[in-house]
Amino acid sequence: MPIYEFTCEDCGCKFESIMKHGEDFPPCPECGSANVIKVPSVFGFVDRTARVAERERAILKRARDYLIDGKVRDAQRFLQKAKEFYPTDRIKKLSDKLAERKPVKGGYVSRTEVVIKKKKG
Ligand SMILES: [Zn+2]
Repeated sequence: MPIYEFTCEDCGCKFESIMKHGEDFPPCPECGSANVIKVPSVFGFVDRTARVAERERAILKRARDYLIDGKVRDAQRFLQKAKEFYPTDRIKKLSDKLAERKPVKGGYVSRTEVVIKKKKG
């Protein structure tokens, strides 16, 4: 049974719930509001025992995929969202780095350093 993560738009709380296909979103457990939004699946819980580190890795990988494709703005937006749910050091660091650096035309991202450099030659 899939477990999804939701955010309440009224009180801002985050919660997890099982949701069968075609069912309505569950109401907020804190305030009872029906104004809940489902968090995109990459942030969701595939497995309850999945550790934050695994999700962090998935988030960083996706961010790098955006960067490698030259989609710096998408990466920034994605990381902004990711930070709300998984404010880990590495995610914050990458997000801050991107905020500091202006994308360079023809730039690329080093897999190990997470920096944007201009390709040589
Ligand atoms: Zn609520």
